[in-house]
Amino acid sequence: MIATSDWKITRIERSKLQDINLEHLPFGKYFSDHMLEADFIDGAWKNVEIKPYQPLLMEPSMAALHYGQAIFEGVKAYRLQNGKAVIFRPKDNFHRFNVSAARMQMPAVPEAIFMEGMRQLIAIDQSWIPSLHDHSLYIRPFMFSSDHVIGVRPSDTYKFMIILSPTGPYYVAPMRIYVEEKYTRAAPGGVGYAKAAGNYGAAMLATAEARKKGYDQVLWTDAFEHRFVQEIGTMNVFFVMGDKVLTPDLSSGTILAGVTRDSAITMLQDAGHEVVERPVSIDELADAYDRGQLKEVFGTGTAATISLIRELKFKEKVMQFDPENAPVSSQLKQDLAAVKEGLLPDSHGWLFHV
Ligand SMILES: *Cc1c(COP(=O)(O)O)cnc(C)c1O
Repeated sequence: MIATSDWKITRIERSKLQDINLEHLPFGKYFSDHMLEADFIDGAWKNVEIKPYQPLLMEPSMAALHYGQAIFEGVKAYRLQNGKAVIFRPKDNFHRFNVSAARMQMPAVPEAIFMEGMRQLIAIDQSWIPSLHDHSLYIRPFMFSSDHVIGVRPSDTYKFMIILSPTGPYYVAPMRIYVEEKYTRAAPGGVGYAKAAGNYGAAMLATAEARKKGYDQVLWTDAFEHRFVQEIGTMNVFFVMGDKVLTPDLSSGTILAGVTRDSAITMLQDAGHEVVERPVSIDELADAYDRGQLKEVFGTGTAATISLIRELKFKEKVMQFDPENAPVSSQLKQDLAAVKEGLLPDSHGWLFHV
């Protein structure tokens, strides 16, 4: 392991920030002044470097482009009301990153590089964290196989990088969701629990077809019977049913263990709700809807935090929910935002100070 003091840090001469208005930014389009890069070569991580955001030099034979050994994370840095910069639960993303790495036969990234690298990068690009309400700096750590060889085998070399993108309020209107019964996102034994790049590529056709039918996203169901619900698009899913809140459990390995999912479960429990993690079938949901017991549906994820669902379409059945009357999800959304901005106490130690 190389010491942090050996890291090479090259600063830009002139910040691009002067040319950008941090308000009204589209998600993921603008990047901060610096990036972190590290190489895995001959069994060890080396060349840790923070340098100006710039293109990569690669050969067309680069393995990740052909065989998809590529994983990523999504984290956010916020500015507290007192002006201090914090990152929301980055350690959880670090652990999940290495779970994804193991599944994709990629080397683990040491905590010193992932966490300390992220901290230093954010410290250097601090001014890119917007001070505006609901704004944040989206952090994208990722790793890919970087051998220039097209033989099918795990790569010998990998690149780990972190880039930063300032982002405005990721407002999503309450969504209409199509219950997917043709395509499959994940099956037991597969890579559903990994944040693997290919999971996203594989989901795009189903999403495009749902859009053509007038829906915003799909509700993924299990690969065998298309009965048990998994996730909504790239978000975890919750159902307010009767006096409980249900969310699919993680035991099948088909569901991504969201950090927002975990935060939501904890905050709902703190607020006195009973949260049950177990398999949830679409028939059960339809039945509960008919009995007036299914009251709210929402998705959770770092990008949009809590997204309200206003319609579920399952075969001929249309289930509708009133976003104006969704007390559980609205309160959760508000409380989660307040913790991130330092307006509610950080009682679970979720804020990592830069
Ligand atoms: C990233 C992701 C989520 C949400 O995870 P968070 O840690 O809450 O951002 C949910 N589902 C999938 C498939 C994802 O890739």
